[in-house]
Amino acid sequence: MTIARSYNFCSGPAMLPTEVLQQAQAELLNFQGQGSSVMEMSHRGEIFQQVHAQAKADLAELLALPADYEILFLQGGATAQFSQLAMNLLQDKADYIVTGQWGNKAVKAAKAYGQVNIAASTQSENFLRAPTQAELNLDPDASYVHYTPNETIGGVEFNYVPQTGAVPLIGDFSSTILSRPLDVSQFGMIYAGAQKNIGPSGLVVVIIRKDLLARQAHAMPELFSYAAQQQNDSMINTPPTFGIYLAGLVFQWLKRQGGLSAMAEHNQSKAEALYRFIDGHDFYHNPIAHDSRSWMNVPFTLADASLEKEFLRQSEAAGLHTLAGHRSVGGMRASIYNAMPRAGIDALTAFMADFAKRMG
Ligand SMILES: *Cc1c(COP(=O)(O)O)cnc(C)c1O
Repeated sequence: MTIARSYNFCSGPAMLPTEVLQQAQAELLNFQGQGSSVMEMSHRGEIFQQVHAQAKADLAELLALPADYEILFLQGGATAQFSQLAMNLLQDKADYIVTGQWGNKAVKAAKAYGQVNIAASTQSENFLRAPTQAELNLDPDASYVHYTPNETIGGVEFNYVPQTGAVPLIGDFSSTILSRPLDVSQFGMIYAGAQKNIGPSGLVVVIIRKDLLARQAHAMPELFSYAAQQQNDSMINTPPTFGIYLAGLVFQWLKRQGGLSAMAEHNQSKAEALYRFIDGHDFYHNPIAHDSRSWMNVPFTLADASLEKEFLRQSEAAGLHTLAGHRSVGGMRASIYNAMPRAGIDALTAFMADFAKRMG
């Protein structure tokens, strides 16, 4: 039986590799001969402990993680980190670089815990580009600098890592983690909600430099303390076991694809093909500055906005799902994370060319 899988351009929860879902399906009723699924097992048992340890080891291998970093598998999505980060690390004041709506949400959450300075914001320019290093107004006494390497809604991505001197750099990598190699040593902490490039929603991966664990800037419940989570191997309470298992399958899939440099090649060529198509057709438009265009989220508008509903109706019918832009910005958006195959891009551009010819 062949199973019809659509090309799903949803920004998140996003499509997962078919191979990963098939493996999870095959293992669902009887994981490692136990006659139970992995989600029906004690998180303290040997089998799940091994799943958890392997997922951590594979993620560390993919990122070539330096020894002075810890991986935590936490809950509450990336949004929980907006507050948890500040609870743990915001001692007095922090710098935030804002290039979109997620960055603004992070600012809002952090304000409950200290002084937040906007080191740069492109909001007055409708978030159409990332600021340059020279534009960053950084405070050497800040507890940290926070930024959003890829703004998922606007499709704006930094093509460089901000240099922050001795001040730890924190990145919300939710929609770009594992899309290419990353030099983690440039960061104090990175975090990423799982549902774009890692696995099911709810799970959030935190990678933190060990010296920052001691900071504990504010009184907080033990559950929210990075240090306490690290001491308990992210198992103060029951972790999202099935999410960690699926993330582990995705990490193994990434290793089989050739790791992150292979993903970088794959993702860059997918994104370039889509932008080349959009730029080559007057019927479509992407407003983002060329040097800030995202490899993962590609927003575009139609020359005639009144055709948007029809575009979405016909693209759905063609098996190209969830191309509507975020409710706050409208237009279209194709999210093309690791699991989106090249054939999905080709099917999308073929549909777009045909639609423009018929309707333009
Ligand atoms: C999706 C996303 C979030 C929110 O993730 P949740 O898991 O829903 O909390 C935060 N930041 C970025 C950059 C995102 O793409």
